[in-house]
Amino acid sequence: MASQHDDNCIFCKIINGDIPCHKIYEDDRVLAFIDIGPISKGHTLIIPKYHAAEIVDVPEEYAAACGMAIPKIAKAVQGATGCPAYNILQNNGQLAGQAVFHVHFHIIPRYSAETGLNYKWIPGQLDETDAVEMKAAIANNLK
Ligand code: 5GP
Ligand code: ZN
Repeated sequence: MASQHDDNCIFCKIINGDIPCHKIYEDDRVLAFIDIGPISKGHTLIIPKYHAAEIVDVPEEYAAACGMAIPKIAKAVQGATGCPAYNILQNNGQLAGQAVFHVHFHIIPRYSAETGLNYKWIPGQLDETDAVEMKAAIANNLK
């Protein structure tokens, strides 16, 4: 089984038990715990037990394990908090708001329009030529 650790990484330290956390769930490849700076009550993090900064660096088996854990933990967060809605967020890169460079998925309950993840969604208008070009370019980059 692939595994990777970084001595300077706060989440690797949590995985190792060197730093405490409020653990919710753990298996061979995944750990879930309460966020120390919650945006809303019940804000939870899910991380692979593999040190990778961004989602593209996570080995398939760890990504799959995260994929299986996310709905399970989201259901538990919803059950515990009674939140009527929630966002699942995963930031990649400082520009995207990433502060801890060990991949993590946020589950952020929303109790009202004022609570939870705050963001402004400004939709554009899809240009047909751009769409055709972009579809081909992205598809060609699939490995
Ligand atoms: P990012 O901005 O990188 O997507 O989110 C990092 C998250 O990690 C933040 O929500 C922050 O509160 C949380 N966090 C940072 N350090 C710790 C820690 O030592 N323990 C826990 N439980 N959460 C942490
Ligand atoms: Zn790490």
